[in-house]
Amino acid sequence: MTPELRNWSGTYQFTARKVIAARTIGEVQRVVAAGGRVRALGTRHSFNDLADNGATLVSVTGIAADPVVDEAAGTVTVGAGTSYGALAAWLQDHGWALFNLGSLPHISIAGATATGTHGSGSRNQVLSAAVAGLEYVAADGELRHVNRSAPEFDGMPVGLGAFGIVVRVTLDIEPTYLVRQDAYTGLSWDRALADLDAIMDAAYSVSLFTDWSGESLHAAWVKRRVGNPGDDDTPPEFFGARRDPGPVTFIDAPADNLTVLGSAGPWSQRLPHFRLDSTPSNGNEIQSEYFVDRRHGAAALAAVRRRSDTITPLLLVSEIRSIAEDRLWLSGSYGRDTLAIHFTWHNRPGEVDAVLWDVEEALAPFAARPHWGKVSHVTEGQVADRYPRLGDARALFERLDPDGRFSNGRLERLGVRVPR
Ligand SMILES: Cc1cc2nc3c(=O)[nH]c(=O)nc-3n(C[C@H](O)[C@H](O)[C@H](O)COP(=O)(O)OP(=O)(O)OC[C@H]3O[C@@H](n4cnc5c(N)ncnc54)[C@H](O)[C@@H]3O)c2cc1C
Repeated sequence: MTPELRNWSGTYQFTARKVIAARTIGEVQRVVAAGGRVRALGTRHSFNDLADNGATLVSVTGIAADPVVDEAAGTVTVGAGTSYGALAAWLQDHGWALFNLGSLPHISIAGATATGTHGSGSRNQVLSAAVAGLEYVAADGELRHVNRSAPEFDGMPVGLGAFGIVVRVTLDIEPTYLVRQDAYTGLSWDRALADLDAIMDAAYSVSLFTDWSGESLHAAWVKRRVGNPGDDDTPPEFFGARRDPGPVTFIDAPADNLTVLGSAGPWSQRLPHFRLDSTPSNGNEIQSEYFVDRRHGAAALAAVRRRSDTITPLLLVSEIRSIAEDRLWLSGSYGRDTLAIHFTWHNRPGEVDAVLWDVEEALAPFAARPHWGKVSHVTEGQVADRYPRLGDARALFERLDPDGRFSNGRLERLGVRVPR
């Protein structure tokens, strides 16, 4: 029996009886070969029971990162439990870069890609879209490699831990680049709704922050790729909002947990909102997020805003981001350019549960897909309706893992795996 295990924010208590912190790939193989239900655990940054199984969990975060660059292929292969922050620092030191990062660098690459984690940017796909290959321990305990040339590969990067334990990941890379981020305040809701597409397309990555109340949003964070550190043609205005000279604060979290604003620096230290060496976000929180078709983005935002009376009192902050369409079967952005509407709630589970019904009612006309790793009332019917390749994904997982060794209650409730 493992002592009480909770997720990063402490809001979910795991039911697994055993957690094994593997140090080698061979150890993962031995655990899987021993039989029984087993599931991969990342850095526990999800907010629901997705990673849990009431039986045995295996973490690969203790397996050496051992990054290997293939310059000709434009890829890096790295231990799957490595944090994005650790890989980003290593790549930057070696002159390379990833195309994007999520808001925090602390999460494991395997866990983040398995749930379709994303940053922002109208031309940037979910982080899982950079996965060019996977090395995983399969249901029979054998080590398997799969890459983009495999016919069913598009079902695997957003794999929800449903087909095996990923031990090494190959990711697309590019030469290192510089990014400057600036915060702008005073963006009016009228302007945001009227010019939403132009706003989200205006830079490499744009995030809008709001609590849905009032006539203006809290801030726009604009991340631009720049040619050299001295480039200083940053406009003082952004769709009527003014550049904030700082210091910038964020959801009553310590001010020094944010990455640097107002000057250019390496991609690795500007694309995440939070610094690797500090506690991200607020910590005492619950998160939810919904993905809607970009074409209906402004209407979806207006619908949520009409519920601000119930949303705002429970909210730390909402973040609005754009994501480019992809072909990954279980990605929130499968087949459609996407607007992501995120909520960081106060840690008041009962009240959050109630307000989510309101949010989901507002977003129902937009066939919103909830984030796999966050809190929602998503049902099997909604998953079937909103993920056109769900049947293919389920068939693939059942073929790779016919006895349901990697399945769990959540995957079975949502129709991702067959109930056993
Ligand atoms: C403060 C904070 C900020 C966040 N910001 C963002 C954001 O900007 N964008 C966004 O999209 N999401 C964001 N998230 C959500 C987060 O990225 C996802 O929940 C992600 O899955 C967390 O990765 P993890 O390593 O903690 O995975 P876990 O929560 O530990 O596991 C998630 C899933 O991944 C599977 N998994 C883990 N490791 C493996 C493996 N080795 N092989 C196979 N499957 C595996 C698990 O089985 C499980 O199904 C944020 C979360 C927090 C707490």
